[in-house]
Amino acid sequence: TDHEAGWRFDNSYARLPDLFYARQNPVPVSAPKLVVLNERVAASLGLNAEALRGAGGAAVFAGNRVPEGALPLAQAYAGHQFGYLNMLGDGRAVLLGEQIAPSGQRFDIQLKGSGRTPYSRGGDGRAALGPMLREHIISEAMHALGIPTTRSLAVAATGNEIVRESLLPGAVLTRVAASHLRVGTFQFAAGRGTVDELRALADYAWERHYGDADEDGNRYLSLLREVIGRQAALLAKWQLVGFIHGVMNTDNMTISGETIDYGPCAFMDAYDPATVFSSIDRQGRYAYGNQPQIAAWNLARLAETLLPLLHPDEEQAIKLAEAAIGTFAELFRSHWFAGMRAKLGLFGEEPEDEALIDDLLVMMQKHRADYTNTFRSLTFDKPEETALSGTAGFDAWLERWQLRLGRQPETPEAAKRLMQDSNPAVIPRNHRVEEALAAAEAGDYGVMDRLLAALESPYDHAREREAYCALPEPSDRPYRTFC
Ligand code: AMP
Ligand code: MG
Ligand code: MG
Repeated sequence: TDHEAGWRFDNSYARLPDLFYARQNPVPVSAPKLVVLNERVAASLGLNAEALRGAGGAAVFAGNRVPEGALPLAQAYAGHQFGYLNMLGDGRAVLLGEQIAPSGQRFDIQLKGSGRTPYSRGGDGRAALGPMLREHIISEAMHALGIPTTRSLAVAATGNEIVRESLLPGAVLTRVAASHLRVGTFQFAAGRGTVDELRALADYAWERHYGDADEDGNRYLSLLREVIGRQAALLAKWQLVGFIHGVMNTDNMTISGETIDYGPCAFMDAYDPATVFSSIDRQGRYAYGNQPQIAAWNLARLAETLLPLLHPDEEQAIKLAEAAIGTFAELFRSHWFAGMRAKLGLFGEEPEDEALIDDLLVMMQKHRADYTNTFRSLTFDKPEETALSGTAGFDAWLERWQLRLGRQPETPEAAKRLMQDSNPAVIPRNHRVEEALAAAEAGDYGVMDRLLAALESPYDHAREREAYCALPEPSDRPYRTFC
């Protein structure tokens, strides 16, 4: 039963004005089969994995049965997609409701790939198994890397084929999130709603995510500042591990500060700010090196929506919004520099640290050094293993770095430990992810399970994990991802 399974739903989002959603049940599929259940996430939500593994669980995770207490709905939102504003909404997802975890925390439970909704436009409302498993793998990896992210509770195969370039097996992913409120939700409110409806949304977001923060006399300005703060921290974390989101549209940027929507994302191999994997990002708008600026641009769109709430006088409101947006670059920079210093084992802060970091990155770009493995080789005193070995200026750089390390009071061992904790050994390398997905699509989930196990402890540098650090065989075709 739902009680044994541990479902404990509330539906606070459904208490927002009608404008923000359409009631929509998931559309049943022909042969639900649970192919992934995330036992750790289940436990943290107060769910009983054993009960969920039964046929009842598969039916819930495929959308064939709505658990007691859930009130399924498709959320409305807008989004700047590659710079152009569109009215959107969950076109292939429904929010079942919010699970109240034993901790008392509230988590959105969303089915993705659950059939058509009023917001589907031309789409079929469905998702293919490969991309849903991909979201599962990458979001698990992000979580283990210590990066705020939505989680994946389950993947259910549907038994139905879906039409893409070829026929593909269909699946539904159960996504868990602090909430699914996005910058685009506010754009929708500003574009379609009254000021009262916008305020209702802002109050809801404030109470759900920032209720413990200081309102500082202006709740809506505080909301904007808090979102900016979390996104600046998030973007720094992405950059520090070489994560490329791939589709940073405003509908894919959360108010909670969690990473969301693992479509065409991928991790960078060779360091190059221009790196783009997404097949649809032809202009490189969402290239690795552009991500912080794009985040700031998206947050400016959020700020615009909040203007009527920030101050009764529009000019004053604009001043407040601009000042808040103006803090993003410096917040990002300070998080990023702190992270980069840690990657190089530097504890304090010296004026030359910036140049030390920049000079290394310039060399890495020039010689197409692998981002992850270069830092890892430096961690283990093996600069000769990097692509920089023997290149002009590298020895001089190593000497500067060693002198800098020697000037700090912390022991060399402490610096090593800091580096090991800041430079992952195992990231979800594109070729490894593809290999796991190909095996899973052919019915063998062992490869994916082993990859997931390796990704669970990215900062474990044990020798037997070397296989997961290896680079792909050289290829003349660049790696491409699809939505
Ligand atoms: P995304 O680029 O994944 O953030 O999706 C952008 C918009 O397209 C969202 O509103 C999605 O719900 C919608 N969408 C994506 N795929 C489909 C699909 N197969 N059917 C209907 N809507 C979709
Ligand atoms: Mg999306
Ligand atoms: Mg998507």
